[in-house]
Amino acid sequence: MKNLSSTLLVASLLMALAIGIADNAYAQKKNTKNKKKTEQKYKAKTNDKTDSIATAKKDSAEVAFENDVIDKVVREETPKGPVMLTDPKRNLPSKMWYGVHFSDAYVKKLSVTLDSIPDEIKITLVKDYSEFCFPMKNVITSPYGWRERWDRPHRGVDIALNTGDPVKCAFNGVVRIAKSFGGYGNLVVVRHYNGLETVYGHLSRVNVKQMQVVKAGDVIGFGGSTGHSTGPHLHFEVRFQYEPFDPEWILDFKNYSLRTRVLYLNKTYFGISKPRNKKDIAYKADKSIVKERPLKPASNAPKKKTKYYTVKRGDTWEKVAKKYKVSETQLKSMNPSITGKLPVGEDIRVH
Ligand SMILES: [Zn+2]
Repeated sequence: MKNLSSTLLVASLLMALAIGIADNAYAQKKNTKNKKKTEQKYKAKTNDKTDSIATAKKDSAEVAFENDVIDKVVREETPKGPVMLTDPKRNLPSKMWYGVHFSDAYVKKLSVTLDSIPDEIKITLVKDYSEFCFPMKNVITSPYGWRERWDRPHRGVDIALNTGDPVKCAFNGVVRIAKSFGGYGNLVVVRHYNGLETVYGHLSRVNVKQMQVVKAGDVIGFGGSTGHSTGPHLHFEVRFQYEPFDPEWILDFKNYSLRTRVLYLNKTYFGISKPRNKKDIAYKADKSIVKERPLKPASNAPKKKTKYYTVKRGDTWEKVAKKYKVSETQLKSMNPSITGKLPVGEDIRVH
């Protein structure tokens, strides 16, 4: 009896093991099948949606920096004359956000909305400040925002100049529009490797061609008063995904410099609405909060997991420090760019 029961026990154990192996093999097969299916699905999606921007990559909320591309392109070309983009499919800037769309038929592509992009996007404007040039060093004669006089939005800033003054390209990129364009007059639009587009309007003369590879500081045209303009000035816009935001978020007109190397572009920066009553200020964001955040430690430094926390109303240094079990001094040293009270809505480093 004893022998029989132990034989039975061994037999049933073996069977269970066999079933287990079979189950495992089935699960593995199923997994690879599913994976293939999703891959195919994704491929199909991207194929028939070349019109939309590669949404799959957007989750990273970070614009890949493609500046390295430009050097390659430039070296391939002869040093004389303008450098043209020879292989647009491969070398167009910021394909992650714009795909291969590069038409000079529109300033803003109407089918693109901001709905699908994250609330905050990290944009590395430049790796080095030498990759930036202030387009026109002069005072703003009309800011971005609602224009009461015309009862319409003003999507850029007007910068004073004299007709014929050279207007310079702000960042490295490729010229998308270089022609006369309605109210803009003679217009240049440059798409940059950092994800932005800059717009230069009312030029007396355009000095570049569509598809031309340009570097920060290149003269893209000369100041004027063409199009809908009441006198010589540069109408300058900064756009992301065709949507304008106040150039003063990145340009400091006091020092004629770039405010930050890394921009945390918040969705609230977009849009101009008509004020409901005269007391409302059309645009009242405090641009001084655009500051460069502490850089992540270099790869050879001991790796510490960085963690960010979005400051809520009522938060104090003490409260946040307690919450993340660090001292107030430690917290402050992790966020050297913030002086005084914690800025509501901004991400601060907590680990
Ligand atoms: Zn203007």
